[in-house]
Amino acid sequence: MTTTKDLQGIPGRMSHHVEGCPFHPRCTQRIQICASGVPAPAGDGDRLIACHRGGIVPLLEVKRCSKSFGSLKVLQGVECTLHEGETLALVGESGSGKTTLARAIMGLVNADEAETLLEGQRITKRTRDFYQRVQMIFQNPGESISHRLNVLQTVKEPLDIHKAGSEEDRLKRVRRVLNEVELPSDDAFLKKYPHHLSAGEAQRVAIARALALNPKVLIADEPTSSLDASVQAKILKLIMNLQEKMGLSVLFITHDLALAKKTSDRLAVILSGRIVEEGPTSEIVSHPLHPYTKALIDFAPLLEDRLGRNTAQTIPNIKRQTSAIASGCPYAHRCPGAKNRCFEDNPELNACSPRKAACFYP
Ligand code: ADP
Ligand code: MG
Repeated sequence: MTTTKDLQGIPGRMSHHVEGCPFHPRCTQRIQICASGVPAPAGDGDRLIACHRGGIVPLLEVKRCSKSFGSLKVLQGVECTLHEGETLALVGESGSGKTTLARAIMGLVNADEAETLLEGQRITKRTRDFYQRVQMIFQNPGESISHRLNVLQTVKEPLDIHKAGSEEDRLKRVRRVLNEVELPSDDAFLKKYPHHLSAGEAQRVAIARALALNPKVLIADEPTSSLDASVQAKILKLIMNLQEKMGLSVLFITHDLALAKKTSDRLAVILSGRIVEEGPTSEIVSHPLHPYTKALIDFAPLLEDRLGRNTAQTIPNIKRQTSAIASGCPYAHRCPGAKNRCFEDNPELNACSPRKAACFYP
């Protein structure tokens, strides 16, 4: 198997004396039956799987998500699925609709049309229970944390809102989650305000706040792009470690394909508010089908500045399509392989099954 993601160990230990499924003590999607019954191998075709849940389950599903701001169609029927325990990278140039999608999932933007499923259940209202399970961090820590609250108040606020345990329990949880994001948890640090913190520390506090309630899903919108290169790497490593340790599923949003490659299990490539390619990261990176994905991969090294940071947010030398495309493929005007049909019809994501890429001529 080829892999591109930086490898992490499986947390926990293997045990030979377990009732039920031998993996259940370490499994993030276990249910009651996993502790009692040994699953029998089942499946169709040549793949068999011994799992009471039939394998890795979808955790967060977004269907037909559309949003316009005036005449600007920012999201056009986006479909994507985040599975249990995985990192899905949503990759695309600046202005492709990534933040709008994240905000629509969180209910911070009202989508014109969308269906959101969390653990198989349709979400109509974003209730407390939803925010206990799904949390988001933003590019700029200032968007996640208020300058008026100190570290203690910032991290404790979600616990207060959700009335999680006693006051003493909440303080303990704050200190624990600060340790998990590798920050001090002494009284002096708890009293600090955001202006006393470095940008890296502020982003860690934002992560601690997001993780305080032990969510299942973390949406991280360009979480390192406002940080210096050395801090960027540390924060990324932290998110990846936390993912393994806490069994989180992460929707990692970035314009930087090189970062996506290092951090994700699967990729969803977004262009002009449409997903144009989706699949396992290693498969897409080694053999992209959509010419836009290929351009993102080819240009990734050129986008880095001298410090190794990826600063440019569009593919250079190719004019970006800024206005919404009335018909045809959104990449046709920039695509070296475009034919007549590409200007007329808009290819579906399953245009080249079994891989998922919205291209007539992959
Ligand atoms: P990305 O995160 O991929 O850079 P965004 O989702 O932030 O993209 O923005 C996509 C497009 O939607 C941009 O053209 C942006 O100007 C526009 N947009 C985003 N939010 C609003 C808004 N509240 N009102 C009007 N236009 C918006
Ligand atoms: Mg954005």
